[in-house]
Amino acid sequence: MTTQYSIPLSSPDITDAEIDAVVAVLKTRHLSLGPELPAFEKTLAEKVGAKYAVAVNSGTSALHLCLLGCGVGEGDEVITSPFSFIASANAPFFVGAKPRFVDIDPVSLNIDVAKIEGAVNSTTKAILPVHVFGLPADMDAVCACAKKHDLKVIEDSCEALGSLYKGKHAGTIGDCGTFAFYPNKQITTGEGGIIVTDNEHIAERAVSLRNQGRDAGMGWLAHARLGYNYRLSDIQCAMGRVQVERLDEILQMRADVAGFYAEAFAENAPDFVIPCQPPEGVTRSWFVYVGQLPEGFSEKQRNGLIAHLREKGIGCNCYFPPIHLQPFYRDMGYGPGDFPITEDIGSRSIALPFFNRMTRADAGIVVKEVAVWLANGASEADSP
Ligand SMILES: *Cc1c(COP(=O)(O)O)cnc(C)c1O
Repeated sequence: MTTQYSIPLSSPDITDAEIDAVVAVLKTRHLSLGPELPAFEKTLAEKVGAKYAVAVNSGTSALHLCLLGCGVGEGDEVITSPFSFIASANAPFFVGAKPRFVDIDPVSLNIDVAKIEGAVNSTTKAILPVHVFGLPADMDAVCACAKKHDLKVIEDSCEALGSLYKGKHAGTIGDCGTFAFYPNKQITTGEGGIIVTDNEHIAERAVSLRNQGRDAGMGWLAHARLGYNYRLSDIQCAMGRVQVERLDEILQMRADVAGFYAEAFAENAPDFVIPCQPPEGVTRSWFVYVGQLPEGFSEKQRNGLIAHLREKGIGCNCYFPPIHLQPFYRDMGYGPGDFPITEDIGSRSIALPFFNRMTRADAGIVVKEVAVWLANGASEADSP
């Protein structure tokens, strides 16, 4: 008989405070565009030190409106990394632009800043660094290159709410940044996203574009420009406001869980590659717990480990399959070998259970099963 644990990959952390805030909205007439929208935006903007915050219905919408606000359009290129969630690479297509991929650094898993310069050409309009798994990219280098070539910087900070880079919050270093609130993120509104910026034009444009192109003071049926419905309801904003108020506590719980893992891996499976230590002056906000099988292990073996853990009732997944190898990117001409570091890391990576209330005992179970598999099953899983 095999033991069946039940440890999910992620889990939202909703307390009575969020529930009460949502119920309070439900008792009013303002289910959308009410007072909770500016309250949420103000709370988040203050938390991260941004002048403006514009809430929208997803992180993907936030990226779209950032690109529009930065004037990215038809025929432009946006430099970004293929080791990310698909939205960061897709968003440029929404505005008629294209991503130009740059491979990643094998340790930070963020865009390799030494390779950005070589990707700049006459059509480059912006750099879109992704702070992968909550670790800020090397923003000094990104911003220096952007300045040299007069490019916009749009930070995909959707995985990095609360991360710090040299005293500034991730998302507030470039021209604008985005956060996302799907239930697996550090904080959630069910679905949701937000744009942060110090740039008044980008903020104003986002406010109009999320609301059918209406301008301030315009009536409900007056539209200054082509817009969208990317609004976030007051029900969700109320939940988000409370989650932001709890952010410090949430980030501490997540850092504690990462600590449980680090200790257990050091003791039981030291060869497993755990998330890197941030460089001096950088603090990671823990989003997921993604490690890698040691160099030389195959994708098939990694998939074997995933199957083993799932068999034991342990949630896990392969974060990230390279974006350029997704079917519709292959149709554009990308293929294996284009971004070797992304492909190698992607083939050996595994996201393990990670959520606020995860216990030291849960982390111990997960690590034990990884160790068992490494000791017994690793080669077996790869045999023909
Ligand atoms: C979560 C995420 C997004 C946005 O996701 P939505 O599901 O649209 O909220 C964008 N980029 C990255 C890197 C993400 O992890």
